[in-house]
Amino acid sequence: MPLEGKVAVVTGSSRGIGRSIALELGQNGASVVINYNQNEEAAKEVAAKIISTGSKAKIFKADVSKFNEAQDLIQYAIKEFEDLHILVNNAGTTRDGLIMTMSERDWDFVIETNLKSTFNCSRAAVRHMLRRRYGRIITITSVSGQMGNAGQTNYSASKAGQIGFTKALAREVASRNITVNAVAPGFIETDLTGSLPEDLKAELTDLIPLGRVGKPEEIAKAVAYLASDDAAYMTGHVLTLDGGMAMF
Ligand code: NAP
Repeated sequence: MPLEGKVAVVTGSSRGIGRSIALELGQNGASVVINYNQNEEAAKEVAAKIISTGSKAKIFKADVSKFNEAQDLIQYAIKEFEDLHILVNNAGTTRDGLIMTMSERDWDFVIETNLKSTFNCSRAAVRHMLRRRYGRIITITSVSGQMGNAGQTNYSASKAGQIGFTKALAREVASRNITVNAVAPGFIETDLTGSLPEDLKAELTDLIPLGRVGKPEEIAKAVAYLASDDAAYMTGHVLTLDGGMAMF
C-alpha cells in the first residue's frame, strides 16, 4: 500500500478522470476527500467504493472556482483526516467555440473553473504542506494546452496556464520537499468528450498512433505514481498520456 497514511484531496472526483484518480489513490491506501460540485449521489458512490476497499473516504461539495469554497474544501480535509499530503487539481470543463463567437461569459467560466480553481486549491494546500515540509500537488492539464486546439482558445489557454503555474510553483516550494507536477491527457473517454459528434471522435482517434482513445484508469495510474515516494525526484514535470498524439 504505497499511499498508506497519506491524505488526498481530488477536485471534481464525482465523475470521469477525477473519479478514477480518487479510486486509484484509495486502492493504494490513501484517505481521500472526494470533491463534487453538482453530483452528490455520484460522489457518494465513489466514497462507498473506496471504503469497501478498506480505505477512508469523505465527500465535500465545493465549487472550486470560488476562492472561499476551495479554502473550505482544503480545511475540511485537514480537519477530518488531520493532515494533507496530496492535492489533485482535476476539476475542469469546456465551453467550445470559435473566437469570433465565443462569449466573454464562456471565456471567464472556463478560465475560472480550470485555472483559477488550481490557484485556489493549491494556495490553501501549500500553506499546510509548507509547515509539514511534505506535499504532492498534481494538476490535470491537457495536450490542448501544449498543442492548442481550434475552437478551444479558452480551454487551451486555461490548460497552458496550468502548466506555467505548475513550473512556477515547483520552483517556489521545492526546498520544502513539495513536488508539483502536471499530467496531460490526450483524448480520454468521459462525459466531457462523450457528447462530441461520432465523426469528430473518429477523426481524433485517427490522429492517435496507438489507435484508440485513453481510459480514465490509465490517467489515474500516472497520478498515483506522481503521488508516491517513487516520484520523489520529479518536479515541474508534465507527463503526457495521449497514445502518442502530440509527441513533443
Ligand atoms: P468530466 O467527466 O466532465 O468530469 C468533470 C468533473 O469535474 C466532475 O466530477 C464535476 O463535478 C467536476 N467539476 C466541474 N466543475 C467543477 C467545479 N467548479 N468545482 C468542483 N468540481 C467541478 O471531465 P473529465 O473528462 O473527467 O475531465 C477531468 C479533467 O481532465 C479536466 O481538468 C479536463 O480538462 C482534463 N482532461 C480531460 C480530457 C478528456 O479527454 N476527457 C483530456 C485532457 C484533459 P460534478 O459532476 O459534481 O459537478
